[in-house]
Amino acid sequence: MAPIRTRLAPSPTGWLHIGTARTAFFNYLYAKKHGGTFVLRIEDTDIERSDKAFETDIFESLAWLGIKADESPVEGGPHAPYRQSERLASYRPYLERLLETGNAFYCPHSEAELEAERTKLMEQKRPPAHICPSRDKGRGVGSGIIRFKTPRGRTLTFTDLIRGEISFESDLLGDFSLAKDLSIPLYNFAVVIDDHEMKISHVIRGEDHISNTPKQMLIQEALGLPTPAYAHLPLILGPDRSKLSKRHGATAIREFREQGYLPETLVNFMALLGWNPGDNREVFSMAELIEHFDLGNVQKSGAIFNIEKLDWLNGGYIRKKSPAELIELIQPYLPPRILNHPAYGTRTFEPIIALEQPRLKKLSEVGEKVEYFFEVPEYDPALLRWKQTSDDDTSSSLQQSLDILEAIPEGEFSARALEAMFLAAIGAGDKGVLLWPLRVSLTGTRASPGPFDILAILGKEEGRTRIRRAMEKLRDLGGG
Ligand code: GLU
Repeated sequence: MAPIRTRLAPSPTGWLHIGTARTAFFNYLYAKKHGGTFVLRIEDTDIERSDKAFETDIFESLAWLGIKADESPVEGGPHAPYRQSERLASYRPYLERLLETGNAFYCPHSEAELEAERTKLMEQKRPPAHICPSRDKGRGVGSGIIRFKTPRGRTLTFTDLIRGEISFESDLLGDFSLAKDLSIPLYNFAVVIDDHEMKISHVIRGEDHISNTPKQMLIQEALGLPTPAYAHLPLILGPDRSKLSKRHGATAIREFREQGYLPETLVNFMALLGWNPGDNREVFSMAELIEHFDLGNVQKSGAIFNIEKLDWLNGGYIRKKSPAELIELIQPYLPPRILNHPAYGTRTFEPIIALEQPRLKKLSEVGEKVEYFFEVPEYDPALLRWKQTSDDDTSSSLQQSLDILEAIPEGEFSARALEAMFLAAIGAGDKGVLLWPLRVSLTGTRASPGPFDILAILGKEEGRTRIRRAMEKLRDLGGG
């Protein structure tokens, strides 16, 4: 059997979309599973829409995800160059051959004429396929766009590795375009030549390319080239079941990265966008995915993008990090006012991050979550009130907390000592009466870890200051 060679052929016309990254990943998994080769080839012949910044983003995002191409413009390889724009000379002989054999011809019609024809055909309820009157002229005219002379009355069938048998009627395809001229190839033609020259055995790509497949098969047939195996992946849909787009939020890998998702999370999440192992497992490492992945388990129907699952997976992968690793990872997400704070340093930050780690869903949340450790929080004093408690009672509750703090000697000030003292004071009473105003006085927030852990980190002195400040705030509220 010929060696397995898969490829991703992205056009650098936007930031790497999660759908394209998923396609890259499935190509990678399939190749790795079968000891094959994953090729990354850049389709940049559309000069107006292609951009080097987008190309760099494709390389960087895939590298960040850990999806490493065996052959690419960066790695090089036996079939270099891997950029279409650098391969232009290789297409011409194939085009010449198609023109010589009468399988291709120069179409003299302008865009406006074609548009008028399309409108007319649609009005007549006929398929809007251009069947060109010049199709038998071969090289004849010698100018205009080069088209394929599509045979009439054929049924073209291929067996998709995910969807099974798919057939198209050739009459609906029309005489499709191959190249703008002898030196500027267009997608359907260029992709066939590249896939052939790079010995691609499996074309795994998005379902939006299903209707291009019969065109590519016709070109292969006319040139006597083998047809690779095809597998078309399901679309990625937003929660409203429409195609995933900006409207639904982040779509580019770099955006997910900026938001503080880990590469392990995205890799795991992307695998589940259309694939499942046949049971309910949802958490997989890269090595496990290579072991279990199978095109036979890829679904035909659209894959719904579930942001809750993404956050859940990310929280799980964040929890697996050691505090030291996590501190390293969150550096880019910490605002300068924390990084430059005199109290900031690994020694002080480790207990803080260990406390927040179980609740962290995204690295980007961290600045907001740990802010109160470094800055005295601002908050609405009304937040200090527990349920229907009056301001006087809230004040007495804070005074009681203060007294408990005072009673613990500096050297014994720890979360466990605090917990023991406070729980003894509360007895069978409502915990919130004492602990809610205390926690708000320390953090200024509605939700945070418990007050004992926070107090242990802040220290007795800072704890006292914050509780007193809360009592002043309440007084001002009463007086104002
Ligand atoms: N450049 C095409 C795209 O980005 C590639 C299609 C293919 O894989 O054949 O959609």
